Amino acid sequence: MTHSRTTASLKARAEEMTQSGGIPGKLFIDGKSVDAASGKLFDCINPGTGQVIAQIAEGDAEDVNRAVSAARRAFEKGQWSNMAPKDRKKVLIRLADLMEKHAEELAILETLDVGKPIGDSLAVDVPSSANCMRWYGEACDKIYDEVAPSGPNAFGTITREAIGVVAAVVPWNFPLLMACWKLGPALAAGNSVVLKPAEQSPLTALRIAELAMEAGLPEGVLNVVSGFGPTAGQALGMHMDVDCLVFTGSGEVGKLFLQYSGKSNMKRVWLECGGKTPNVVFDDCHDLKKAAEHAAIGIFYNQGEVCTAASRLIVQDTIKDQFVEEVLKVAETMQPGDPMDLDTTMGALVEEKHMERVLSYIQAGKDEGATVRCGGERVLLNQGGYYVAPTVFDGVKNSMRIAQEEIFGPVLSTITFKDAEEAVAIANDSIFGLAACLWTGDVNKAIKLSRRIRAGNMWVNCWDGGDMTMPFGGFKQSGNGRDKSLHALDKYTEIKATWIDLT
Ligand code: NAP
Ligand code: MG
Repeated sequence: MTHSRTTASLKARAEEMTQSGGIPGKLFIDGKSVDAASGKLFDCINPGTGQVIAQIAEGDAEDVNRAVSAARRAFEKGQWSNMAPKDRKKVLIRLADLMEKHAEELAILETLDVGKPIGDSLAVDVPSSANCMRWYGEACDKIYDEVAPSGPNAFGTITREAIGVVAAVVPWNFPLLMACWKLGPALAAGNSVVLKPAEQSPLTALRIAELAMEAGLPEGVLNVVSGFGPTAGQALGMHMDVDCLVFTGSGEVGKLFLQYSGKSNMKRVWLECGGKTPNVVFDDCHDLKKAAEHAAIGIFYNQGEVCTAASRLIVQDTIKDQFVEEVLKVAETMQPGDPMDLDTTMGALVEEKHMERVLSYIQAGKDEGATVRCGGERVLLNQGGYYVAPTVFDGVKNSMRIAQEEIFGPVLSTITFKDAEEAVAIANDSIFGLAACLWTGDVNKAIKLSRRIRAGNMWVNCWDGGDMTMPFGGFKQSGNGRDKSLHALDKYTEIKATWIDLT
């Protein structure tokens, strides 16, 4: 049945889901929805309203043990790990199909859980997640191993093998998409997975585990343990039977995972730990209007809760005033609103604590002498949720805290430069190196400067360019390893070199 989607129809469905127990809240272990061993529950809060919408099972070390055992059993049994790639492909593609079939439900869960605009959940988060799953499904039977040039008296093969049990600890900004960026390649390679969603955003992770079973994933191959970082997250990091840990989140926690690994079984640790994207705009840019639009969307999209948020606008002094005016015009059109309204372009921040953190950065910017050109405060208090107005700072120095630290909110820092040398120096003056943007009409300059900027993702005349074919990840303290593309498989496989003596 098709029906035209309206804000009213979406809200009615959200209401029905919350009233009728349509919100998943149990751990998913060994193919079944189960309570936490401790029986404990925690509140799931809708950041758009501040209301509790569900009770979620609080998994801890004991549940992690159960999930890792189930994952190991499934891996050893081989139903998935030894399944022919062409058959693994079918399951992952069926899962992508099911995600599309349940797109509206998943989008509502995501928006209720984290406060992002429902229009974005429907148009971006869910379709991109399904697309990711389908992409890795399709990849399953298209990857060949290597034969070494070993001469007539030996036969050398270089083959990839699944690594075993993968633990994925993911954040709350794109809960479903970040989970799929890990699950797609991990499952395609034949691994078993234990996924821990962020405490703020367990809903779509729990639901996708059910859909994966429906798609035909064998029991125990995908387990989801909702719970808290210092308990469930740490238990995964320290577990002696987890072979690989993949993480997206803060650098602080990323560093903990490196320690956990060193203190336990030396499990492989792959991190994506955020950034402070420099968005460098030269006065020879051919389309300053587009550049201004991207500058605003690049920081206000998803409430600025984006690891690649274009948080440092580094603009040539000759055009700065005019350019900031253009950015302010776009900011004006992105005022926060009810996340469940289809017209909303900016929703609520994920939780009260995070909103307080963002507001404290705004205060720090003021204290250090930067000028607020718009926003700078909490808004929509009567809604009960956690809304901050799009905020533009001018007169920022790159040494200020608002230019150095990841705010993860709708806060833009404007910094000026005189020439290309200074622009590159400012862009690279950061502990991060996840992404960078460059706007210029001069192709030589674009290529030469792209090579000099230390970032894993370089976007020329755009923000957030690319698709599943492009690897994603960071230099420096933005992490290691890559999500997306075939490069992601490097994280989820071991290379075996087999030398057969033929003499
Ligand atoms: P975070 O603490 O790094 O959370 C990411 C994941 O790590 C969550 O699943 C979290 O679980 C888990 N975790 C937390 N403490 C842990 C511990 N001691 N041991 C093991 N796992 C642990 O991120 P956050 O606190 O939600 O956000 C803080 C800041 O991190 C943000 O303001 C932003 O600057 C940055 N961040 C970056 C990204 C990114 O995409 N790079 C994403 C999110 C946040 P719990 O949720 O249960 O604590
Ligand atoms: Mg929530």
